[in-house]
Amino acid sequence: MPVVSQLSHRRVDLVPAVPGTVQAVAPGSLAMELGIEEGDQVVGINGKPLLDALDFQFQAQSTEVMLDVDRGGTLLRYDLELEGDEFWGITFADPTFDGVRVCENACPFCFIKQIPKGMRRSLYVMDDDFRYSMLYGSFVTLTNLSEADWQRIEEQHISPMHVSVHATNPDLRVALVGNPNAGKILDDLHRLQDAGIDFHAQLVLVPGVNDGEEMDRSLDDLAQFHRLRSIAGVPVGLSRHGQERQSKQIRLSRTCMRRLPGATQERIHVRRYEPDEARAVIRQAEAWQRTFREERGETFFHLGDEFYLMVGENVPGSAHYDGFPQIEDGIGITRYFLDGVDRYLQRARPGILEYEQGIVACGTLIGDTMQTAFDRFNSVTGAGVRVVPVENQYLGPEINVSGLLSGGDLVARLGDEPGDGPVFVTRRMISDRNGLLLDDQRIEDVASQLRRPVVPADTISDVAAWMRRNRQTGNQVA
Ligand code: SF4
Repeated sequence: MPVVSQLSHRRVDLVPAVPGTVQAVAPGSLAMELGIEEGDQVVGINGKPLLDALDFQFQAQSTEVMLDVDRGGTLLRYDLELEGDEFWGITFADPTFDGVRVCENACPFCFIKQIPKGMRRSLYVMDDDFRYSMLYGSFVTLTNLSEADWQRIEEQHISPMHVSVHATNPDLRVALVGNPNAGKILDDLHRLQDAGIDFHAQLVLVPGVNDGEEMDRSLDDLAQFHRLRSIAGVPVGLSRHGQERQSKQIRLSRTCMRRLPGATQERIHVRRYEPDEARAVIRQAEAWQRTFREERGETFFHLGDEFYLMVGENVPGSAHYDGFPQIEDGIGITRYFLDGVDRYLQRARPGILEYEQGIVACGTLIGDTMQTAFDRFNSVTGAGVRVVPVENQYLGPEINVSGLLSGGDLVARLGDEPGDGPVFVTRRMISDRNGLLLDDQRIEDVASQLRRPVVPADTISDVAAWMRRNRQTGNQVA
């Protein structure tokens, strides 16, 4: 039976071989009551094929539903009269049945173009898919939306969205996104707002390009949107491979070149922030944050942790982060971790983890902060956790965050480390989609090379809980 055909005229990648495959059915759900099973293929509702999991959620919330399911070549049809607000409980193997929308941009700082060759194919997918923006918080540029997409966002109320704005100056955004369609960002955001769609914004800040006056302009423009929930400013990341690309003076397309602001600016020079430049961004942001707190009662504009860490300043307190609206993107994650340390140590029984050992492997940027935190942890609990900052050899030492370390980096740095105990790493190193590290290794592969357990842990409580379990079960960590 034809399932999904001509669903999108857009460039896509990673099209699933069997779209609509059910990966899991939640206990107590309507799908379980109907007998829908893992491996079934949902092929349509009310005689129409489905686009993705969001489309399913929308179409299935009706009082009359005719659901078609393919089970091993046999069509099962369910004619249902419903309340219209059922818990269906279906998780699909691939949330988008027609693949992942690929971006039509050429951002000069694109991190995907900085990834060395030879890694798994999914890492090179330059996704710019509004469905993933709503489902997983991926940032999208809105430059590849057709009128049909817009109408669907409006009709199905696909909210919230996460939008890579970078700059509201139309010419500058065209240059930063490398797409002539990018200049109508304010119109696009108004259209989202008029449809009642909430959104978060991100500015990837490039020194001397979209900070300073351009950042003021962007924040001033964005402040007018009452549907905008938060703005994040993150410093551009540049790997060794990316720097080589820059040094070869990779240029933007001619289309974009003509629209660059300023007659003398022939290309956008992407480089990392120097400490004095980072401090200037922090001070500039603080002025805006004061204004936003007075006018909106919230900080509203948050800087990525890297800005504070790279100049050795304390990250702001948790009240600053308005409930951490962009923590999935790493904004405020250091404060979140440090507050967890305080909470844990307030209630920890002195000496409770005496003789327990382990290594915390982290990126070089957060090394000092981690060391201070685990010094406190050790002195209260009696544990002997060592912090080992790991240099990123895979992408280059300029990439200094923990989440982008590869399995090979861990093995190279920790292979000869003395002592017992596991290696604790951040969960952010592991892909949500396939459980692999950046270089396609599994945690288990790394553990066997290191001859120690490798334990994903995001909080100090995770570390303590593993050690407590280890103590109770008497496991030997070789
Ligand atoms: S939108 Fe820009 S940064 Fe994102 S994948 Fe496309 S070119 Fe790369």
